[in-house]
Amino acid sequence: MTLQERDKKHLWHPLKQHQLNPESLGIVKAKGCILTDEQGNEYIDAIASWYTCMYGHCNDFIVDRVYSQMQQLDHVMFSDFTHEPAVKLSEELIKILPANQNRIYFNDNGSTAVESSIKMALQYYFNKGEKRSTFIAFENGFHGDTFGAMSVSGLSVYNGPFEDFLIEVKRIPTPNGSNHNTILDQLKTLTSKHKIAGFIYEPLLQGAAGMTIHDANGLNDILKFCKDNGILSIADEVMTGFGKTGKYFASDHIETKPDIMCLSKALTAGLLPMAITSCRENIYEGFLSNDITKGFFHCHTYSANPVACAAAIAGIELLTSNEIQDNIKRIQATHKSFEAKIKDHPKIKGTRHLGVVLALDLNTKMERYGHLRDKLLKFFMDRGVFLRPLGNTIYIQVPYIITEQQLEKVHKTIEDSLAIV
Ligand SMILES: *Cc1c(COP(=O)(O)O)cnc(C)c1O
Repeated sequence: MTLQERDKKHLWHPLKQHQLNPESLGIVKAKGCILTDEQGNEYIDAIASWYTCMYGHCNDFIVDRVYSQMQQLDHVMFSDFTHEPAVKLSEELIKILPANQNRIYFNDNGSTAVESSIKMALQYYFNKGEKRSTFIAFENGFHGDTFGAMSVSGLSVYNGPFEDFLIEVKRIPTPNGSNHNTILDQLKTLTSKHKIAGFIYEPLLQGAAGMTIHDANGLNDILKFCKDNGILSIADEVMTGFGKTGKYFASDHIETKPDIMCLSKALTAGLLPMAITSCRENIYEGFLSNDITKGFFHCHTYSANPVACAAAIAGIELLTSNEIQDNIKRIQATHKSFEAKIKDHPKIKGTRHLGVVLALDLNTKMERYGHLRDKLLKFFMDRGVFLRPLGNTIYIQVPYIITEQQLEKVHKTIEDSLAIV
């Protein structure tokens, strides 16, 4: 029996209506940009397995580091002990994070990094004896699937059934260059009516919303407003972190820096699950007290897993190398010329790119999980390219090590797909 057949007996996949779509493709190998299925077919991983494996799958440099770490120290509790990989990772991260970030807190995945950030903001004010219980977030944001993270995400198929159980969140539109004043007025009204603890946002680029890009100046104005009103700003850089936008972090494009940041996905180079919530020193200081209950009692068993830390350290070493930085520039340039070539195509409504991300909106009705999406997905797979359209948006977020030839194949495949739209 194939993997595909055996899978159907006991497994339950995420984001899937099994009754309509019971099949899952069996993948047996991944190397560089290429995924190989159990029939031996190859696919270019043009979304880097959900934006994680930016230095390529089974990258030898990273695998070697992880293997030696496994032989030295596999795991130890992080509540009572510390170790070289965690210490070293904190040092390396602080070097590349925005200058105001100074504390590194470990989590297991993007959702729990967000969950921690929300709890940090709430408890920061609780410890001060101030009750602030509301958050502000962007419409159409996506921050993960645990309860706090679901609450701050825009309403969708992800959190609809749980709406009655979510924490209080007020939503504002993303800045588009002409709505600054409306947003600022809305913020003033919200702060006069509610006790706001924090504002959480995907800086510049909203992934699940369809790789939409918003205005950096407008975002900066919102962040300044938050600063002036004691609202802690939380940058969810789970997707945008580690070079995706052409800089180490999307927050590097914006003058006002966040108080708290959430990191995951490319953090461990696609090899192991781990996440980090970083913050300014003054947030950390808000938890210092002779009273033990003022500490941050949020913990995951595998916090700061040394093997995952080793993958992350190796990833940062690659990210900061000239080779990867040059690749990011090359990918941006190739995206740009493809965008110029395709933007006036009659089937295309709009295009945008930022860093290694390129998105095209099709001139069709928006259907998140509709028939067209399935047809496109099949077209791409038949051509040996793994792309996962979001509604009527086709987007690319390629590993930094993609060759020019592979990238051109991805672009050409998208261009050819317009004939079936
Ligand atoms: C993927 C993602 C998350 C959730 O991360 P998980 O590891 O899937 O829990 C949160 N925020 C953003 C911006 C993401 O892209």
